[in-house]
Amino acid sequence: MAAIKSGFIRKGIFVSIISLSASLLWGQNLTHQIEWARSIVADHEREVRGLQREAGLAWWDASLSGKDEDFAKKVRLQNQLDARLHNAARYTEIQALRNDSEFRRQDPLLARQIEVLYYAYQAAQIDADLNKQMNAKSNAIEQMFNVYRAKVGDKTYTSNEISDLLKNSLNSEERKLAWEASKGVGAVVEKDLLDLVHLRNQAAHSLGYPNFHAMQLALNEQNSGQVLQLFDELDDLTRDQFTEVKAEIDAKLAQRFHISPNALMPWHYQDLFFQEAPAVYDYNPDTIYEKENVDLADMTGRFYKSIGLPVDDILKNSSLYEQPGKSPHAFCTDIDREGDVRVLMNYKPNQYWMNTSLHEFGHAVYSSKYIPRTVPYLLRSEAHILTTEGLAMMFQRLVHKSSWLQKMGVPVADPKRMDKAEKKMMRAELLIFSRWTQVIFRFEKSMYENPDQDLNALWWQLVEKYQGMKQPAGRNAPDYATKIHVVVAPCYYHNYEMGELFASQVHHTIAKMLHQSPAKADYANQPQVGQFLRDKIFAPGATLNWNELTKFATGKYLSTKDFAADLR
Ligand SMILES: [Zn+2]
Repeated sequence: MAAIKSGFIRKGIFVSIISLSASLLWGQNLTHQIEWARSIVADHEREVRGLQREAGLAWWDASLSGKDEDFAKKVRLQNQLDARLHNAARYTEIQALRNDSEFRRQDPLLARQIEVLYYAYQAAQIDADLNKQMNAKSNAIEQMFNVYRAKVGDKTYTSNEISDLLKNSLNSEERKLAWEASKGVGAVVEKDLLDLVHLRNQAAHSLGYPNFHAMQLALNEQNSGQVLQLFDELDDLTRDQFTEVKAEIDAKLAQRFHISPNALMPWHYQDLFFQEAPAVYDYNPDTIYEKENVDLADMTGRFYKSIGLPVDDILKNSSLYEQPGKSPHAFCTDIDREGDVRVLMNYKPNQYWMNTSLHEFGHAVYSSKYIPRTVPYLLRSEAHILTTEGLAMMFQRLVHKSSWLQKMGVPVADPKRMDKAEKKMMRAELLIFSRWTQVIFRFEKSMYENPDQDLNALWWQLVEKYQGMKQPAGRNAPDYATKIHVVVAPCYYHNYEMGELFASQVHHTIAKMLHQSPAKADYANQPQVGQFLRDKIFAPGATLNWNELTKFATGKYLSTKDFAADLR
């Protein structure tokens, strides 16, 4: 509370000085502002640092135990953190400092910390009641997703059973019924989701944004025009290649189901959203891992050591294998920005978990483990979610190279065959995912701009245009509401695709440094790769925003160029 009071006083002084005689007191004012900013940063650290660490630990415990009380503790700590930031007076002070160009010029590092605080505090200025309503709605919808079971006739299906059916069934009618049943969750959540969209827009308006989509992007240091331009470029780059890859997939699927390619419907594509490639390529990389019973933890440790970024202590801190009650997914978390970094995995010797391991430990090396302690606490993290996702994706792509496996001591019987098949699969995956992110990005943007339009029609119009899938005749259902990200991680999906661009751009920079072609470079046993990452990506932490970091590391702002080259 003391911090809040002193904040009010400082603000009073500041406002009167500015309004009375700004130019006369300029020098004195500036010294004052630097001290003032320092005290704001110190206050924040003192109040929030311990809480953040506790919240991180609570999340870790909850993910391992699955116990309600652990989840409750995590929610309680998160609420406490939010409450600290919900401080209008402090926000006004931060805003004043952030808008002061002279202050920014005099002390850019301090100004960057103020900038980071500005976004954190701004997001927390939404009216407390409104915020509660939004959280309640979002949680309620998430719960609806969790308990929803697709029902065909008398039989109910879990989502895993639906996935299995869509993977294996050769009966088009059975697939259609299962697909329709699983999309039934849309009608269940539709009304609440629309309520939530209106609440989110109301929150955005209260902070002066035209809609929630614009607000979310701004809070993440992006804007619609900038992202849209990249997505338009990507659309041009991927359209023909995607059409060609899809035609090949369609031919194989049509053969499998004994129908003409024109008769293929969304339920024929295995994945409920066609965000992944269906398994039509007759190559199975898992046999390599199963045959050798590859120790993925050991391999991950040896690989990162070989590029000069050892992760032995993180491996020791982590939870790597299945256990009852434990989350079945995978993630990496930085507990304290002091080097306590942990990874949750559920290893099985197959390509999926090798890929996931390289991904999560990619996040782990880009964390407080390798960000110098000289970077201030507030900036001791990745520059942006897209840069850490991008780096993680860059590493996970290595599993597709036989040379990488062989250098890591895993024998590959027919490397030529593997490389050919993997290249084809990876290209298909990149193209299919890219087209899917077009749908989500454009849909959310348009939905928040005008929630009262015909959203069912908008969804299918985008799916047809970007994914080349047919809207089933006469279908008028809220299929957009069946993707849980629209509810729980709104206006976020585009960052995955921008992460893919970042991955390509950094990879091309590394390949150039190694004097290798991007297709060949696999980093293994090359410590200069780790050194490059330390100097050019980790060292700045969040002192640079995502696009300045991209330029610092690769010499140019984020672009589609290297990603396009990887598709060729
Ligand atoms: Zn990730």
